[in-house]
Amino acid sequence: MKRYSAFAIAREALRHHTGWERAWRSPEQKSKYEVIIVGAGGHGLATAYYLGKRFGITNVAILEKGWLGGGNTGRNTTIIRSNYLQDPSAALYEKSRSLYETMSQDLNYNVMFSPRGVIMLAQTQHEVRGYQRTAHANALQGVKTKFIRPEQVKELVPIIDINGSRYPVLGGLWQARGGTARHDAVAWGYARACSAMGMDIIQQCEVTAVRRQGSMVVGVDTNRGAIDCEKLGMVVAGHSGHLADMAGFRLPLESVSLQALVSEPIKPCMDVVVMANTVHGYMSQSDKGEMVIGGGTDGYNNFTQRGSFHHIEETVRALIETFPMISRLKMLRQWGGIVDVTGDRSPILSKTPVDGVFINCGWGTGGFKAIPGSGWAMAELIAKGHSPLTEEFSLNRFRIGKFIDESVAAGVAH
Ligand SMILES: Cc1cc2nc3c(=O)[nH]c(=O)nc-3n(C[C@H](O)[C@H](O)[C@H](O)COP(=O)(O)OP(=O)(O)OC[C@H]3O[C@@H](n4cnc5c(N)ncnc54)[C@H](O)[C@@H]3O)c2cc1C
Repeated sequence: MKRYSAFAIAREALRHHTGWERAWRSPEQKSKYEVIIVGAGGHGLATAYYLGKRFGITNVAILEKGWLGGGNTGRNTTIIRSNYLQDPSAALYEKSRSLYETMSQDLNYNVMFSPRGVIMLAQTQHEVRGYQRTAHANALQGVKTKFIRPEQVKELVPIIDINGSRYPVLGGLWQARGGTARHDAVAWGYARACSAMGMDIIQQCEVTAVRRQGSMVVGVDTNRGAIDCEKLGMVVAGHSGHLADMAGFRLPLESVSLQALVSEPIKPCMDVVVMANTVHGYMSQSDKGEMVIGGGTDGYNNFTQRGSFHHIEETVRALIETFPMISRLKMLRQWGGIVDVTGDRSPILSKTPVDGVFINCGWGTGGFKAIPGSGWAMAELIAKGHSPLTEEFSLNRFRIGKFIDESVAAGVAH
């Protein structure tokens, strides 16, 4: 793989850009791999990347039924933060946030990480108490956040109306090193690095069955034929229930659609990310000037990766009291992704009842921020059979009732 650099840009400019090579190969699949990862979203690709980088395991195939990064990874609103309440979550999400800080250098790929700061608005007394508690918990966990006053919120976000008649802003939980990154670039950067290590990314390859010998996985069937493997990682977000069913076990999660929309581009007016959990909406401004707006999930299970009109209305209506200026914006486009939600709003990173099968799912509405941390930990689990970061997130927690309740941190959930 040729490195990207200022020198390479100058060289290619001089020879009319004829020397760029493809970012990743499109190989034919082999009949067997040491590890197969199903799902070339951010989590699947990051898992493969750290298998190679940390453990030298490169005999890996990543199978993707569509195109890489075309699932939730390419559909999300890219908020990155680690201000979770419970210790295991704070450890995992903070590891992930810290990996984002150096991701562009690590991958030699500009993922446009922008630590512009994230505020979660407190608009009820209940939220004030909740976020003050989180700020104290974060201090003990080594996560840098603080509770700020309404005037400080106004200073950071001049377009906000802090005196709304129903939901005035009473303060906010501020994480200065939270922010955003370019979602496609995260998938593309990992894909390029995986391909450079010799891993095979097979797109348009849908897993249709999981083959077992007794309690042991031996391979998968796909629309392009059978492929054997010693270990199998399932990293398919909203399709996790289907994959688990193929392997012969059930998962405690639901699949629902989550939608987002963007406005027409406007001049720079907001350089932080703002989440408003009580009214249920959040907003940031993209580099192109569009206001990126997200809301909650659909209230019923579904598998449609589309937007719906009632959602635009609900989400924009929720935000208008706090951001009156958006009432004058035209909305440009809207979309949806299928997210996998657990009862305690925490992910599952776990071995499964089938030997050699590992599952990474349950990130629900907030897994983009976790991509590098999850990949880092999942690779360790697959390579060594255990990882300190995944221990509390195993399937066993549903059996013994040791939930990691993040329903407050994941209120709007991004
Ligand atoms: C509208 C929206 C907004 C969001 N906003 C945020 C946010 O601001 N911040 C945040 O942290 N998170 C956010 N999220 C959540 C985040 O996008 C996801 O948690 C994360 O992208 C999940 O990544 P993944 O790699 O697990 O899944 P995906 O990116 O969905 O990848 C899974 C892949 O598996 C493939 N697949 C499925 N079945 C099969 C099969 N049988 N064979 C082969 N391949 C298969 C799919 O095609 C897909 O490409 C948002 C999600 C949505 C939908």
